[in-house]
Amino acid sequence: MNSFQPGCYKVEDKARKIGIYVHIPFCLRKCSYCDFYSLGSFENGLLEQYVKALIKEIEEIELKEDAIFPTVYIGGGTPSLLSGSQMELLLKTLNRKFNLRKDTEITVEANPATLPESRISHFYNAGVNRFSLGVQSFDNFELEVLGRTHTVKEVFETVDALHRSGIKNFNLDIIYGIPDQTVKKWENNIKKAIECNPSHISMYLLQLDESTPLAKRITEGKFTLPDEEMVSDFYYIGTEYLENSGFEHYELSNFCRPGFVCRHNMIYWHAEEYIGLGAGAVSYLEGRRFVNIASVYEYIRRLEKGLKPLQEELEFMNTSEMLAADAIILGLRLCRGINLLEFKMRFGIDIEKKYKTIIEKYEKEKLLEIKNGYIYLTKKGYFISNDILCRFIV
Ligand code: SF4
Repeated sequence: MNSFQPGCYKVEDKARKIGIYVHIPFCLRKCSYCDFYSLGSFENGLLEQYVKALIKEIEEIELKEDAIFPTVYIGGGTPSLLSGSQMELLLKTLNRKFNLRKDTEITVEANPATLPESRISHFYNAGVNRFSLGVQSFDNFELEVLGRTHTVKEVFETVDALHRSGIKNFNLDIIYGIPDQTVKKWENNIKKAIECNPSHISMYLLQLDESTPLAKRITEGKFTLPDEEMVSDFYYIGTEYLENSGFEHYELSNFCRPGFVCRHNMIYWHAEEYIGLGAGAVSYLEGRRFVNIASVYEYIRRLEKGLKPLQEELEFMNTSEMLAADAIILGLRLCRGINLLEFKMRFGIDIEKKYKTIIEKYEKEKLLEIKNGYIYLTKKGYFISNDILCRFIV
């Protein structure tokens, strides 16, 4: 029986908190805009072999000291391709290893084409208490352009099934800036997303790597991307609709009903630690960011041989200046911003003094503010946040 109460949890502030991320890089097929590593087609039995390898990786992890693991996020890829029994085995193993508590937030990402009601209840009974649906659009033409495998009808069916199953804590991902998107189409997407009554909505700008099939079609002139002014309008229109419908805007791209922040993602934005499990999963521990080898085949091969997955170090932040800059870049994504006193206690750095020139420049431009002990971006600064945040890199 799942005893999680959405939005109600206690976390011991002083304990070392570590999030757990599990990566499932398998998809029904590749979406036209996706440049993440994932297998869009694979032979029978490979997913089963992968789950077995994951179980081995989890069992072999050495935990050095007492820590609490308040969140598990199973992402991808398309984790809803796992069967109910695979999910059960995975969560049982995680539970055994990390001694998960009853109030652990356990999220699974899902594609509406692969989440029938029976799977929802199987996942829920296995311990999943938060679902994140990759909806992306409520327009069948846009879904086709994006190469998604589901239709709008399937989105509504999945949302109905979540409601019928009593799942109160679920997110919808939607994308703006899709080729040929108009304000009217975007408003319709936002309205439909709100009508689904989720607890959380993530709103992302379509960003295309030139290697993707969709980018190539745009270069060939088959589609046109909305210009920068238009996508900025989409962002602020979406924000206004969501706020007027009672959603809290708590992170640049994330909105929730009161009490339903994504606790796992808060770990990232607070620059706290996480363990990544599975092929291509990133970990962040003791100032080091490192990634498991991306190839599913290589990952399985090593685990079957009793070896650990190959890992590559992405960065090592070994000075408080580096750690502080990282925490600023992540923390300023939160609408509430960064508590200056807590920051000073954690990193020994006074943000106002250290970044005086940058702060003054952006304050003058009304892109950044300091008030009531917090530093935060203004609404005007949200859409151009990347330009501002990169100025804090040491
Ligand atoms: S479902 Fe997600 S990970 Fe898989 S191809 Fe589509 S965008 Fe990429």
